[in-house]
Amino acid sequence: MTTAKNKQSTSLTTDILLVGSGVMSATLASLLSELDSELSMTMVERLPNVAAESTYAWNNAGTGHAGYCELNYTPMNAQGDVEISRALNINASFEVSLQYWSYLVEQNTLPTPQTFINATPHLSFVWGDTDVEFLRKRYELLKAHPLFADMEFSDDVETLKEWIPLVMQQRTAKQKVAATRFNYGTDIDFGALTRCIIEKLNTLNTFDLKLNTQVKGLKKQKNGRWKVRLFDNVSKKTTTIEAKFVFLGAGGGALKLLQSSGIAECKGYGGFPVSGQWLVCNNPDIVNQHATKVYGKAALGAPPMSVPHLDTRIINGKPALLFGPYAGFTTKFLKQGSYFDLVKSLKLNNIKAMFNVGKNNMDLTKYLIGEAMQTHPSRMNTLRQLYPQAVNADWHLENAGKRVQIIKKCDEKGGKLEFGTEIVAAEDGSIAALLGASPGASVSVQAMIQVIEQCFSNQLGTKAWATKMKTLVPSYGESLVADATLLKKVRTRTLKTLKLS
Ligand SMILES: Cc1cc2nc3c(=O)[nH]c(=O)nc-3n(C[C@H](O)[C@H](O)[C@H](O)COP(=O)(O)OP(=O)(O)OC[C@H]3O[C@@H](n4cnc5c(N)ncnc54)[C@H](O)[C@@H]3O)c2cc1C
Repeated sequence: MTTAKNKQSTSLTTDILLVGSGVMSATLASLLSELDSELSMTMVERLPNVAAESTYAWNNAGTGHAGYCELNYTPMNAQGDVEISRALNINASFEVSLQYWSYLVEQNTLPTPQTFINATPHLSFVWGDTDVEFLRKRYELLKAHPLFADMEFSDDVETLKEWIPLVMQQRTAKQKVAATRFNYGTDIDFGALTRCIIEKLNTLNTFDLKLNTQVKGLKKQKNGRWKVRLFDNVSKKTTTIEAKFVFLGAGGGALKLLQSSGIAECKGYGGFPVSGQWLVCNNPDIVNQHATKVYGKAALGAPPMSVPHLDTRIINGKPALLFGPYAGFTTKFLKQGSYFDLVKSLKLNNIKAMFNVGKNNMDLTKYLIGEAMQTHPSRMNTLRQLYPQAVNADWHLENAGKRVQIIKKCDEKGGKLEFGTEIVAAEDGSIAALLGASPGASVSVQAMIQVIEQCFSNQLGTKAWATKMKTLVPSYGESLVADATLLKKVRTRTLKTLKLS
């Protein structure tokens, strides 16, 4: 490894280059610094502050996605069976994040947990015979699994009025409704979490943070290292830095940089950007009546990430209510990006996939344009499906972050649209990128462990790294889905340490 870097020096070589300062880069840097304190790391961020894009609290919904309330994680198949495997896997991945954050709290790397994570019951709420039946089936299957054993179900109006008073306003026993509740769901300020992690890293001599610095391109050298072109947005100067390993944690900017790397693995990938907006309520009389996250069912034709939800958010210690997201059509890949992002992402190797996805998803495009054109009263009508007495004047619109969904080449349709997250890494492990944004920040630790497994497999094979990994994430290498005893042990610790029970 190269020697630890002196922060004052202008030495432009580094072991690890992290592009972007969102939750993904911060998590990877934190894990690597724990595994090998001698690795030199440089984090490069184009904006003047860290964690200011999707990771910033108001740019995402702050839901600790664990499958407790998200009905799109448990689809019903053609035979009428509810499939729960995705919810089990996401729940287990979220437990990996909780374990690592617990470790960081115990080490005093993270401050008191309430500054970034708060217990907030997660509910799913549905109405009408079909959806109530779906929810009951989903509940029975999930409840039978140790991961979801604490889930509750009710179709009793009086019970539901206690659980979710705002949602139950004006509802009578005549309307068939039901909900499930999971009491130790979470609301997470991913921005605060990331800022704390980076603040701690920045105290290390081995870590260098370059703000206002944009990665413009990168090229693999004959010596196996990456030469990366950096543009200083303030001085307008261009420099280069040489890195042994590059992580493209640039959120919506990752695809462009991956394409610039020219690695064979990136061929055929494209991106489909979706914007988001929220209705926000700061009226304390309303905010104080709701202390949960309530997820409904997505409208017909809506993409899975636009499932409507009415959420308590706790940001800077202050509760607020958020409803949305209203997905919309956009051509920008980053909130603070360019309207030309989509066009510039078209390449010979992905153009067929991109056009096929466009052609085969006209309904989605129309839906997104329709959403973007909505007026305040029509958005309020959607909110009133969950909160019937919502008053227009109590709510205002805020722009959320952008999600760039993955487009991939495929044989059958020429191209397919995916709503998950994917790590794309070079075969030699010298570069990796994270594409997509769902389930997102909640599973950042599992996603970054996957980067380490793919790109640092030799080091991970050593006793030192393997032992340390078990300290960071005690369930590492074992299955929380299959091992109920391990789950109990792990969960007892995380609920206590993160003050979630
Ligand atoms: C509307 C919405 C709702 C969401 N809700 C949830 C939720 O409830 N729960 C959840 O877990 N996840 C949620 N997510 C997803 C979550 O926000 C993201 O998965 C996560 O924040 C991504 O982190 P990141 O570090 O990859 O990207 P980002 O936080 O976007 O960080 C990327 C950084 O890279 C920088 N950058 C880009 N290009 C360059 C360049 N060329 N040079 C230097 N820097 C560059 C950017 O400025 C940015 O700071 C939501 C996302 C959206 C948009």
